[in-house]
Amino acid sequence: MTQHTNLDHSKHLAALAKERILIMDGAMGTQIQALGLAEEDYSGHGATQKCRHHSDHPQKGNNDLLILTQPEAVEEIHFNFAVAGADIVETNTFSATTIAQADYGMENAVHDLNAEGARIARRAMDRATAIDGKRRFVAGAVGPTNRTASLSPDVNDPGYRAVTFDDLRIAYGQQVRGLIEGGADLILIETIFDTLNAKAAIFACFEAFHDRGAQLPLMISGTITDASGRTLSGQTPTAFWHSVSHARPFTVGLNCALGAAAMRPHIAELATVADTLICAYPNAGLPNAFGQYDEGPDDTAGQIAKFAAEGLVNVVGGCCGTTPDHIAAIAAAVAPYAPRQFRDKVAA
Ligand SMILES: [Zn+2]
Repeated sequence: MTQHTNLDHSKHLAALAKERILIMDGAMGTQIQALGLAEEDYSGHGATQKCRHHSDHPQKGNNDLLILTQPEAVEEIHFNFAVAGADIVETNTFSATTIAQADYGMENAVHDLNAEGARIARRAMDRATAIDGKRRFVAGAVGPTNRTASLSPDVNDPGYRAVTFDDLRIAYGQQVRGLIEGGADLILIETIFDTLNAKAAIFACFEAFHDRGAQLPLMISGTITDASGRTLSGQTPTAFWHSVSHARPFTVGLNCALGAAAMRPHIAELATVADTLICAYPNAGLPNAFGQYDEGPDDTAGQIAKFAAEGLVNVVGGCCGTTPDHIAAIAAAVAPYAPRQFRDKVAA
């Protein structure tokens, strides 16, 4: 049953991507910040006692935990992005691995976070579809974790690693199984600063797909962290593509770190080498001195429209600082342009 639905969704998504540029959602974090939640809202250990998981660590800032403690608020954020024009929304599970949740002592909640995270996003999409009849897709979001497998965090011990490939493979496997159980239509491995972490995530996805008998489309999105145009683990966009192309992803692209203007040359480079769909979701400009993002919806949308006019992109959306207004503006700005064409080596 699940397998049939997923297959059906994959085909529909692929057909839609041939017709037009698809729209992703914007930043969950910015929307959550605007709610001004306190510790007891996060932990769910106030009067309502919503969360059956317990930890002695403070939970304020554990945005993923809101899936279990503030599910209505999370669903509303997804819904607002869907109504603004998003075809694909990301689950609120960026840090829902045992590795990232260890900071909050919430490792035991990981399965529930992912399964519920996908269910909540699905509910929001179905509500939006009931209004306008447009089909929408849930991308299970898989973040980089807060550890890196190919670099040492200790300058005095360059051979040291805070995490291994297998640690990551196991943690990601648990996350992806939860996302599939909750009904994710695809898996999005995003904000990749270390390609070795991403490779572990890809490996875990294929293991989970095999176990579940359900092959979901993969979206793979790196992040360029400095002016030299490389990922933290030192790769150019071209090298990054060659490191992940074996996964035959539905999309490859870039997100976060940079605003659209600074991201443009790197997306253009990827678009020349990758024989798959290109996805770009930049931040709303660079953060200011207070860590906030100043670019308004029309600024961001105007720059992303240039990507579209140049034929560089197939899927666009927003990362840090982007709101439902940004997504509505982006959707309107790219609507006149055809999706990027590429030579599909598999079909050829
Ligand atoms: Zn971001």
